[in-house]
Formats: sequence, C-alpha cells, structure tokens
Amino acid sequence: MRRFHILLSVFFLLSLLPHPGWHAVTVAGAAESGGQVFSASAVPQEQGRKVVRLAYLIFDGYQTGGTPDEPKQGFGYDYYRKLAYYTGWQYEYVYGSFSELLKKLEDGEVDMMGNLSITPARAEKILFSTEEMGRESFYLYIRGENTEKYANGMADFSGKRYGYPQKSFQGELLKDWIAKNGIADATFVEDSSLQERWNNMASGKIDIAVSTLLNKRNKNNLDWVSVLKLGDAPFYIGINRRRPDLLAELNEAQRRILTVNPDFNHNNYSKYVYGVPASGTILLRSEEEWLREHPQIKVGYLKNCSPYVTYDPKTARMEGMLQIVLEKLKKHYSLDAIAVPYARAEDLMQDVRKGKMDLAFPAYGNHWLAERSDISLSDKLDTSPMLLVYSGNHREGLTGRIAVSPDNYFGAAYVQTHLRHAREVHCQSLEDAVRAVMQGEADSLIMQSHTYLAAYRQLPTLRRMNTLTLKATMDVCIGMSTRPALMGIVDKCLTFISEKEMVAMLTAADEIPVQYTWEEKISRNIGPIMLGMLFLLMAIAGAFLWRYRVAAYTEKVLREAKDNAEAMLAKEQQLTRELLEARRQAEHDAMTGLLNKGAFEVLQKVYSSDNIAMLILDIDSFKNFNDTYGHSVGDEVIKFTALTIREAFGSSDYVARIGGDEFAVIMTGVTLKQKEFVARKMKRIQAQLRSHPSLPCITLSIGIAFSDAAGKKDAKELFYNADVALYRVKEKGKDGFAFFE
Ligand code: GH3
Ligand code: MG
Repeated sequence: MRRFHILLSVFFLLSLLPHPGWHAVTVAGAAESGGQVFSASAVPQEQGRKVVRLAYLIFDGYQTGGTPDEPKQGFGYDYYRKLAYYTGWQYEYVYGSFSELLKKLEDGEVDMMGNLSITPARAEKILFSTEEMGRESFYLYIRGENTEKYANGMADFSGKRYGYPQKSFQGELLKDWIAKNGIADATFVEDSSLQERWNNMASGKIDIAVSTLLNKRNKNNLDWVSVLKLGDAPFYIGINRRRPDLLAELNEAQRRILTVNPDFNHNNYSKYVYGVPASGTILLRSEEEWLREHPQIKVGYLKNCSPYVTYDPKTARMEGMLQIVLEKLKKHYSLDAIAVPYARAEDLMQDVRKGKMDLAFPAYGNHWLAERSDISLSDKLDTSPMLLVYSGNHREGLTGRIAVSPDNYFGAAYVQTHLRHAREVHCQSLEDAVRAVMQGEADSLIMQSHTYLAAYRQLPTLRRMNTLTLKATMDVCIGMSTRPALMGIVDKCLTFISEKEMVAMLTAADEIPVQYTWEEKISRNIGPIMLGMLFLLMAIAGAFLWRYRVAAYTEKVLREAKDNAEAMLAKEQQLTRELLEARRQAEHDAMTGLLNKGAFEVLQKVYSSDNIAMLILDIDSFKNFNDTYGHSVGDEVIKFTALTIREAFGSSDYVARIGGDEFAVIMTGVTLKQKEFVARKMKRIQAQLRSHPSLPCITLSIGIAFSDAAGKKDAKELFYNADVALYRVKEKGKDGFAFFE
C-alpha cells in the first residue's frame, strides 16, 4: 500500500514536466474540437475569460444534470463551481460515460476531469492536481439475510467470494486488506459494471461486494448491508497534458480554498454522500430472541407534541409519527405496542428508567440530556427547527426570562442545552406560558416549529405574538432504558419510514383548521363585512327614502282628497247659498228686502188659519212725492216705510211689498181680542213715519181683517176683507186704519 503511494507520487512529479506542444491547443481550438459541447452559462461568455471543457460525468451524489437545462448539483459540481470562483473559468460541459470522458481527456478533447484516482497508467497520460479533490471510502457489502454469518470476527471473511470492478482501485484496496488481515481462501470475481455486481450478489455468485457508500436504494441493493469499511482513497482532478496553464491555476485555487477552510473537501463530499441506512435489515439472533420474550411493549408518549404525537381526549386515541413507528414495528417485527399518554416528560422518563415503559416518545436528541436522565436515544426520526416566540417589537434581552411548561418538553430541553444562562419562568401549561409572555412576566418561550404551528391553530393569543427562528435545531428521537436488542430493533425499524410517509404525516398535521376568534374572523374579513354593512346601510337608507316617498305620496293624495272634498263642499255650500239667494231674491223685493208680491200670493194660497190677521198698508198720495220731490225721494219714502213696517212686526209675521206703495202683513197667532194691540201698533207705525227728520211727512191708510172676525180661514179671502177696510179708510180721507167688521 505504502509502496504504491510512493509510486504514484513519482508519476505525479513526472507529469509536471513540460510536454512538447502543450501550448498548441488554444481556447479557440478547444471550441472546434467537436464532441458534445455545451455552454453552461445562461449569459454570454465574457471576453478574456478562459473556457474550460469539463468532463461532466453523471452519477448519484457526484453530479446531476445531464442536459443544459437540468439543475446541476453534487459534490463534483459544487467543487468545480468553487474553483471557478477563484480562477474565473467558464465551463463547457462535455457529457459521456466514464471511459469515454477519460479517453477524451487523454486525447485533448476535454481539458479537465475530476473524481480520478491516480494510477501509474493514468499519470503517464494526464496531469493531476497537487491537492486532493476529496476522499472516498469503500465498504464491504453483504446480503441482509447473511448478517449473522459475519458477526463473529475476521475469521468469518475467509473462504468467501469477493466482487469488485475490474482494474479498479477498489480491487487493489481489497487485496491489500486481505493480505494485511490474513484472510484465507478468498475468491476474486471481477466485473465490468455495477449491474454485473448486483446480479452476482443476487444469484449468489459472490458473497461480498466492494462498493462506495450506498447513496440510494434500489431494487438491486435493497437488502445490501455494509459489514466493514475497507479504507479510504483520495481522488484528484485530471488535466489534459497540453494545458499546464490550467493545472497551475487549479493548484493555486485549491490551495486558496483549503487555506480558508481546511476541511472543505470533507464537508463538500459528505454533504452529498452519506450512505442511506439499509432498510429491510434482518435482525440479529439476540434481537430475535428478545422479540420472542417480549411480544408486546409499552410506549409512553407526551400528549402534546404535534405532529410527532398527539392525544385526542375525545377518542382517547394517539396519532402522529409515533403511530407510524408502531405500525412499522407491528408490520415488520410483529411487535405489539400499548401506547400510554403522559402529561409530563419527567414522569415518562422516570417510568422508562423503572422499566414500567419500554419506550418514551418523543425524546429530545441530545445525548448529554439523555445521559443525565439515564436514557438511551434511538436514531433521529426528524430534525425540528426551533422558534423563539415573543411579544411586541423589541428583540433585546429576549432570552433573559424564558417561560417553560411541562407540556412543552422540547422548549424546556432547548433552554437546558442551549440557553443555560436564561432564567426559567415555570408555567402550568403552554397556554399559561403564552399568557406569561403576553403579560411581560417572561420575555419569550421556545417551541418546536411544528408545535408552534399546531398551537397557532388553537391559541388566539399565540397569533398575536412574533417569532424568530433559532439557529440550533432539535433532533426528535425515541428514548429507552439501556436495552441493546430493543435499540437495534427500533433503529432498524426507523429505516422503514420513507420520506413520503413523513411528508404525508406532516401535511396531514398542517391540515388542521385554525380556530379563529370572532375578532379575528372580523378583522380577516373586514373588506366584505364593510361592503356588507355598506349595502345594509344603503338598503336601510333606501327603505327610509321609499317610506318617506310613500308617506309623502299618501299625504299628498289624502290632502288632495280632502281639498277636493272641501272644494266640493264649498262649491255645494256656495251653490246652496246661491240657490238660497236666488230663492230669496225671487221671493223678496229688491228695494225693501220684504217678501215680494209673487211670494206673498203663494203664501196667501197656502195659509189657512183661524187666528191670523191680514193687514194692507198703502202710502197716501204717494204720487205727490214723486211729482214734488222726484223719484229718488219717492224711493226713500218707500224704503223707510218698509223698514218701519218691518220693525213693527215680529218674526212670526209675514211682511210683503205687494205694489209700488202698497204693503201687506199676515200676522199669525192673533185674534180679534188683540184688536187694541194691533191698533196701538198701527198708531205707532203712523207716528214713526211722520217723525222722519228729513223726509216729508208720510201717512198710511191701513185695512185690517182678523180671520175669526171675518169667519174666514183662507188668507186669500181675508185679503179681500182687508182691502175692503182699506178702501173705507181711503174714502174717509186717508191716514188711518180700519178693521173689517
Ligand atoms: P192714493 O192716496 O189714492 O193711494 O193715491 P196715490 O197717489 O198714492 O195712488 P196711485 O196709485 O194713483 O199712485 C201710485 C203711484 O206710485 C203711481 C206710480 O207712479 C208711483 N210709484 C209706483 N211704484 C213706485 C216706485 O217704486 N217709486 C216711486 N218713486 N214711485 C212709484
Ligand atoms: Mg197710495
């Protein structure tokens, strides 16, 4: 082994010697050399930057992205990028198989190729970088069902058939190891491809396969189990012999990378190559025996660790990742489990120590904390980001006082391991802790981001707080007391949980709906609510307006109806008035206002009574007034006479003007007995007529007839009698009155 390395170094030094014609190939020449050449950059290549044709080999972990558009990554790709940052190179990626690319490198069609072990043959044709590009490890793999056969030491490896790639470094490493460890009767089966080695393992043609770490499981290597690490080997970057300029720049860049970060190569490699656990692993004999003695285990779990495990008080059922673990234990190892909920982590860990519980879930993946609780930890199920939850905007002194609660086990564990200077404010529950932070009794609390998400949905107060992602994460494990067999079973069982199942479980946990408070619901929907209220207000306003309009209309109609009625009434009253007036005019004399002759004649016809008196009053020598003083004075005489007569009689008497200067009166309710009374009335009339201050002296002749005296009831006949009496007065010289006897 040692001799081999010295040999390599010699070849390496030789390769550095100048080679005739190495300047012959220019950058321009490189582009013309044909083959599958792609420009990697999406931007135009810059003038003056060197274009390096890079052999781009695709295999898992090393490099991905076999076409220009596919994303590229892997420990090889990342390494070339890092180099380019120091050299300024631009790459043209040349794709192909390992042997194709290696030949191109030797022939000068490719400038650079990485992940190469240095062999004497290669060193003759290729220049190699001084520094390693990385170091890969080789392992011996067996089939899972044979695990027991290799559990007893080096003797188990004797008499076995070993498979490895022909003419490979692995082969040299294997032979070196066999010689060094005195393995007897080894048979070597060289193959020309990985597929051939898979087939040889499956058919039993080989017992042991040499391989790098399995980075991916497929149906061919599903049951492969690594039993031993063969050794490490460095790999280098090869440069086309005609490009020593590139070699110098490469060596310089590598040194610069390692100066900044001496562990760069290892970090870069292990980021992509880490070896997937073997799923479907067969149990050891001791583990199988343990299972036979323990067909059922007890698993204690913390109630509120969503989504890792949750306890539903309604159904008293357990859900979450633990459920998946227990299903796998049952399915693959027929191991039954009884799940028991715990409120406090301390109680759970104590019961595990006492042996009351076989497993504790979840356990914080910190070995120091586990040691203090005398607990063993399984491999991790998940890595959880941690959040610092605080109130308000200030960020100073947030880890001074931290609220911890028994139902937030991971939060308390984080404080114990990462924030030992913090003062713990002990609270009853997570809800209580949130309240303490809100009220300023504590500065913050720490939660797993998953727990936070679950609690966020249930606790409105938490939704009013701020969060900060903490730098350290926490591994989620299963805890147990020291039981190697159970530990082996659990760790193997965990390899059955696929990424897909994990994502499905976490997604399901995210689907729990948030329980919003009324205030939150309102503030979240303020837009539609405002809009709704606006519509409501508009509707109310519209209703008011409508109502007002209806009211106004009704009022108008009613008013119009009233007005119409009033108008009709007024019209009717007017009509009545007019009719009455017409009638009055028809019945009365226009000059004196007394009943006229027509009306008096109608009255005479209808009036018949035995206690009335008929009076006829005629102005004496009236002609003379007209002739002497004129008609207007004559009119005044008539009017004054009419007024005087009218005033002399009561409302039950009818006074009429029956001719130019002639008046008639029907007195009712009188008999002959009132003759004197009537006579006095006549005298008074006559006296009044004479006493007018301006008019000339007026005298009257009056004829009076009582119905009882005449023995006649009808007014018309009585008129005749009165006229007779009047005539007598006129005959006797006027200015007097006479009763019909
Ligand atoms: P006697 O004493 O006999 O009654 O004589 P007299 O002049 O009063 O009677 P006569 O019947 O001869 O005259 C009546 C006159 O009255 C005739 C007419 O010209 C006049 N006369 C009738 N009506 C009116 C009137 O309304 N105004 C005026 N100024 N004169 C009238
Ligand atoms: Mg007369």
